[in-house]
This record gives sequence, structure tokens and C-alpha cells, in this order.
Amino acid sequence: MTSRNRRLTQKADIKRRAHGPPSFPREHCVVPGCRRPTQRSSSQGLSETYCKRHKEHLRTHGHEHRKSYSKAELVPFRKAAREWFMEHREDRAVQMAVRSLEGLMASQGKSKDAYHQRGMTPEAKARNTLARLHEAGKAAQTLLLIVLTIQAAHAELGPWGAPDWEAVQISKQAKRLRGAAGTHYPDAPSRYPRSEGLYLRHLGRMLAERASLGIGGDTIDHIRERARPSIKRPRPKPAPPRDDTVDELRRMQAFTAALRGGSWTVTARG
Ligand SMILES: [Zn+2]
Repeated sequence: MTSRNRRLTQKADIKRRAHGPPSFPREHCVVPGCRRPTQRSSSQGLSETYCKRHKEHLRTHGHEHRKSYSKAELVPFRKAAREWFMEHREDRAVQMAVRSLEGLMASQGKSKDAYHQRGMTPEAKARNTLARLHEAGKAAQTLLLIVLTIQAAHAELGPWGAPDWEAVQISKQAKRLRGAAGTHYPDAPSRYPRSEGLYLRHLGRMLAERASLGIGGDTIDHIRERARPSIKRPRPKPAPPRDDTVDELRRMQAFTAALRGGSWTVTARG
């Protein structure tokens, strides 16, 4: 554990470097289509690859621009995962995974409240979240189902090439389970730990590691296949319907103009 003094020095040092003089020549964010300067080039942080906005997005969602899975996106995978689990819950490996997840939650001691969680290291925050889940009476199979759902959704929907995505998405689902999302104080507003940062990666990895005891080589493909028929994919926007009435009107106008022109010619000649 780092001492308080050392933590303060580190904090000041990061702050100083983050606001230090910009790098030269100016560099742009690597996200396709983004023209903003990198954090380093605009003295807004330490990243030499991303702008401030995309760096924040990466911290919160595990990908620089893809938003976290929506509830609607996960529904088919959740259903398929539950069906798979009902068929395999007696399997030795699945029971082992469930027991292991149970042990992980139960061995974290008493949880600290959301206010005190702010000052913890990322790993301690992750463990504190597990303690909260345990105190809220969450079942280990719920956590296993979350891991199965996210891994199957990821295999089918992507995004690819984002190493933290799966862990972050697993934690986001786990940490907001009813009754375990934050701390309620009798005479102050409830507090919820912010859903971002390294601790989400730690928590997701811990859960995935325990769950993997019960996940065979073809389990995820199985769930993914089963979910596939009910996946709603965003359809390309239909082209606006051709407005025939406008065309018709123009043709009529051209026709009457031609007629009038014709009759005018006739009158002029007469
Ligand atoms: Zn950017």
C-alpha cells in the first residue's frame, strides 16, 4: 500500500505533467474522423494517442467510441445464457464456477460505503464492490450469467481490438445489480461510485476468471447461435420515398406551358 504522502506527490506530479507544455508538432487523435488534438498536444492530459473526449469514453466504456451495450442489445443473449445454464447447471464444471464466484464474493469482508470507496486503489475498489454484492445477497449464478451474456454478445456484435471491453461491460452489469449499486444514507442523498476507470477492469477480470471454470470451448458459440435469430440489428435507414406528386405537378406545368406557348404562337400569327 502506498503511503498518503507518496500518493499526494504522485497526484501532484501527474497534474503537473498533464498541464505541461504541449508536445510539438501538434498530433491528432487516432480515432478515425476525429480532428481534435491529442491530450498531450492540447495540454489536457497525458495521452499521446487520444483527444480528451475519446480518452474519457475509453475510461468509461472500454472502447474509444463504441457505447456500452444497451439493454435491448443484451436481451437475446441473456435469454440464451439462461437457457444454457438451466441445461448445464448440474455439470461439475458449472458447479465449480458457481462455487468459485460465491467464494470470491464471500471472502471480501465487510464493505466500505461509497464515500470511502473513492480513496481506494482500483483493486480495493473492485473488492469492495464484491463485498457489496455479497451483502446484498446476490447469487453467484447471476454473476456467471452476466459473464456468459457479455462474452456471447461480444463474440457476435464486437467491437474487436479493444482489450478492456469485455471486462468493463461485465463489471457494468454486475456493479449495478439492484441493492448493490451504491450506499443509501439515512439523512443524505445516496451515493453511487462512478462507473469508470481501472477498477472496472479489475472487477471484470476477476469475475471472468472465476466464471471461466464453467465455460467450455464451445459454450459461448452455443449461446451466441441460440441468440442469433432474435437479435435486432439496426437496419439501414430507408431512402425517402420518391415524391411522385411533385414530379406529376412539374410535368403538368411543363405541358400547360407548352400548350400556352403554342396557342400564343397561333394567336400571334392570326
Ligand atoms: Zn478523438
